[in-house]
Amino acid sequence: MIRHINIIKTGSARQRPFLTMAGGSFQKKEYPIYCIELEHETKGKILIDTGYGTHFLSRLKKLPQTVYGKLFIEKEQKKMEKQMLLNSDYDWLFLSHFHPDHLGGVCEVNYRQLKLSAAIEQLKKQPRVMQLRQGFFRELLPQSFEQMNYFEAAPLIELFELKLNAHDLFGDQSICAINMPGHALGQFIFYLQTIQGPVLLAIDVAWHLESITEGRLPNRLTKVIVHDFAQMKQDITCLAQIHEQQPELPIFLSHCETSLTQLLEWNQKRGGAIVGYQEN
Ligand SMILES: [Zn+2]
Repeated sequence: MIRHINIIKTGSARQRPFLTMAGGSFQKKEYPIYCIELEHETKGKILIDTGYGTHFLSRLKKLPQTVYGKLFIEKEQKKMEKQMLLNSDYDWLFLSHFHPDHLGGVCEVNYRQLKLSAAIEQLKKQPRVMQLRQGFFRELLPQSFEQMNYFEAAPLIELFELKLNAHDLFGDQSICAINMPGHALGQFIFYLQTIQGPVLLAIDVAWHLESITEGRLPNRLTKVIVHDFAQMKQDITCLAQIHEQQPELPIFLSHCETSLTQLLEWNQKRGGAIVGYQEN
């Protein structure tokens, strides 16, 4: 069982909402970058994703640095890389997927064990151009990982309430990892059982909760930055069906302030002790 969820805003990036959601504005807006800390009653402290980390751009080679910096991080945003984070030790680090705003800080976090998708092996073997097209920068990763295992190695169970299969990461159904690879190869999202009920951490399945709750899908132009656009639409539709059947289930997204507000409201209704929030 999960005793506590702490959402940490580690920084932000800027993007045009018309790209990431139908009916979004053309003018660039700030997109928060959230990491998630969990406290498991017996397994200890878990961190899901690291944000960009403090040395992200300087660790990229020249070309990807220019391209990525121009596309996603504005000049003034580069200063924002000094993140608050992650001053404590973690028993576990989970990487939801391999985009730099989720793993850029992986070398700066202390953890005992790592869980990630086996798809990383596939990504590592791809030619550099393919890797960059998928937003995978191998220079952000350490030479080798110690104490690592794959989400896919955990037993696959059926989550009847979601009508989905998931990997039961600790054998107690407290954290079940569901593969949703439309946004990024190897992306997993997490269905939690907290002491106050279930929560779905949907990571980057969509950029905005409205894509799930109102069908406002990302623009076709995002085909160039997501792994599989058709699969992404299917993943969003799957969560839309879950939302329709279980409107009370909080769905949290890693770059959506509305989803944070909804999670905090859910928390308030249940006495206010489950979810915390921190930002710089
Ligand atoms: Zn992503």
